[in-house]
Amino acid sequence: MPPDERSIIHVDMDAFYASVEQLDQPELRGRPVIVGGLGPRGVVSTCSYEARPFGVRSAMPTAQARRLCPDGIYLWPRMARYEEVSVQVFEVFHEMTPMVEGLSLDEAFLDVSASLRLLGSMEAIGRRIKDAIHERTRLVASVGMGPNKLLAKLASELSKPDGLHRITAQHAAQELAPLPVGRLWTVGKVTEESLHRIGVRTIGELAACDTVRLTRALGRQADVLQALARGEDARDVEPDQAEQSIGAEHTFDTDLADLAMAESWLLRHCERIAARARQRGLTGRTVTVKLREPPFVTSTRQSRLQAPSASVSEIYEVARGLLQRWWNAQRTPRLRLLGVSLSGFEGRKQSDLFEAEPSAQASDQVQDRINSKFGSGSLVRAGVLRTRGQD
Ligand SMILES: [Mg+2]
Repeated sequence: MPPDERSIIHVDMDAFYASVEQLDQPELRGRPVIVGGLGPRGVVSTCSYEARPFGVRSAMPTAQARRLCPDGIYLWPRMARYEEVSVQVFEVFHEMTPMVEGLSLDEAFLDVSASLRLLGSMEAIGRRIKDAIHERTRLVASVGMGPNKLLAKLASELSKPDGLHRITAQHAAQELAPLPVGRLWTVGKVTEESLHRIGVRTIGELAACDTVRLTRALGRQADVLQALARGEDARDVEPDQAEQSIGAEHTFDTDLADLAMAESWLLRHCERIAARARQRGLTGRTVTVKLREPPFVTSTRQSRLQAPSASVSEIYEVARGLLQRWWNAQRTPRLRLLGVSLSGFEGRKQSDLFEAEPSAQASDQVQDRINSKFGSGSLVRAGVLRTRGQD
């Protein structure tokens, strides 16, 4: 299929972490809620729409947010809870197509080109995704649609909050032209400054800019950028099975000197990565623990699981062993950063359920079906609960 005739959908939950908090604590609804790191080096992860008129934005230092919005409700993230909701959201995606590329807990690209015959137009699928997410989670998603990733993502961004918007190839140039070049996906701060220096401020100006002049300013990326500015983007949706590793880590405001504390952080990380692996139907064999002594000495310790797994307790058991061995070998153990990752993926866990060996193709289809039904990995739920009980 020609790259610009695909049907790509970009879904992004509105103010995800903050919305989950408002969902779980009704007294927070209608109030500015800021979720993020609350320590001295903390930054805002997400803020509710009520906080935005105060100038609060994600990635802003929390201290600055407190100055702008002193009456806001400031909360630490509850990742385990967000992941629970994320699993439900990704279940909806996998019911539409196996071609799902997750960008974060609450954001994904879907290539629904092959689903149109079964499920109707792209708009019908977009609407269905939005409705199903709302029905199951009571949360609002913005849905963007287009012939490629660039336009689908832009469509959801432009229509937020509660968006549902399609940008067609014919109208792409028109919608893109007035936007600042910084809005173009992949244009970072440095590129933006180079463009400003040669007087290019809008995407329309970038598209119309003399190619020789642009190449002089930007080098080889000039061609790619001009294609993007015209609304052309050949990048494929890459389904998540291709993922190399899933990790979680945390930098401590105050160096950690207590093993029990380090272990409970490790458990929290293991819950996160196990949830993400399950959400993508993956099981991994290799557990890696990342340890940083202050200020910057980083080491890793690695071990293999007996069998590929996405179970919190199995991953945690191995990770804890690695942490303890490292800890006991230090004279005065101190941690600035602790992380853990799972890798060595062996495809979809659900295949373990089938002892019989159907033909390869049939087996794939069965797995996809099972995955869309049980993608959350509900099978390991008991293990998670057990571990949580010990927390
Ligand atoms: Mg979002």
